[in-house]
Amino acid sequence: MRLANKIALITGGARGIGEATAKAFAAEGAHVIITDINDQQGNEVVSSLAERSEYLHLDVSKPEDWQRVHASILAKYGRIDILVNNAGITGFLETSGPHDPEHLDLVSWQKVNSVNIDGVVLGCQVAIKLMKKSTAASIVNISSRSGIVGIPAAAAYAASKAAVRNHTKTVALYCAEKGYPIRCNSIHPGAILTPMWDAMLGEGEARIAAIKAVASDIPLGTMGTPEDVAYAALYLASNESKYVTGIELNIDGGILAGSAAAPTQEM
Ligand code: NAP
Repeated sequence: MRLANKIALITGGARGIGEATAKAFAAEGAHVIITDINDQQGNEVVSSLAERSEYLHLDVSKPEDWQRVHASILAKYGRIDILVNNAGITGFLETSGPHDPEHLDLVSWQKVNSVNIDGVVLGCQVAIKLMKKSTAASIVNISSRSGIVGIPAAAAYAASKAAVRNHTKTVALYCAEKGYPIRCNSIHPGAILTPMWDAMLGEGEARIAAIKAVASDIPLGTMGTPEDVAYAALYLASNESKYVTGIELNIDGGILAGSAAAPTQEM
């Protein structure tokens, strides 16, 4: 029970990495507040976890939604101990695009940023207020390997995730400076097989071939699972990481360890 007596809030918890994280946290004794915009799926996850969880509607890009969730948690629990800022979008389905730096559509750019970085900024702001009464609190921001390298076809996604990486360090230092019992770290997943990939991978034989193609670029040879990221979030959320703040933890099968055009002995 690595998270016994802890109250955790997870955004985008209805599926994918958020769902796996909610399940891992509940299994380790946390009370999990799952939030999302997909109410039906969010409630289904809660049903599978029984008394260890509850569901609240929260569009992370809307300050008024955060205010409502803040008020509700304050009245019911008075605090949270863990926030996982997980909700995020690529913009490929949610916006008209395009997303390359030459032709990008500003409204699409703003939509991606409103979810991916405004959502994290608002989450951290509310969490700092709700975590002051915790004895040991942790904010885990889900960035991406795309926050560390450039992605030509996904400028808004990459820039928003880079902003998450940097804001994490600002929050970590701010909380340390103030003497708040709050740590803040980012996780940088590589290619994790979740519903986020569905539209990009296609169906049937094409999907199998596409997954194989993605995997061929990954040093460990496979796409990751949502649980691979959930275990990292569990470590950063628990008191086991009590001396860890402001770090970036890559969960990417080795993608970021190397580079293209590497010299070899045969050259
Ligand atoms: P996912 O399967 O698409 O799940 C994301 C969840 O967030 C969905 O339930 C989605 O609801 C919800 N959501 C979307 N917009 C929201 C909003 N404005 N407010 C609240 N919830 C919202 O994604 P995932 O693959 O698990 O990704 C989770 C996080 O990891 C994201 O931040 C993503 O950028 C990051 N990440 C993922 C990968 C990867 O390979 N999967 C790699 C690097 C980073 P709907 O179903 O209604 O859209």
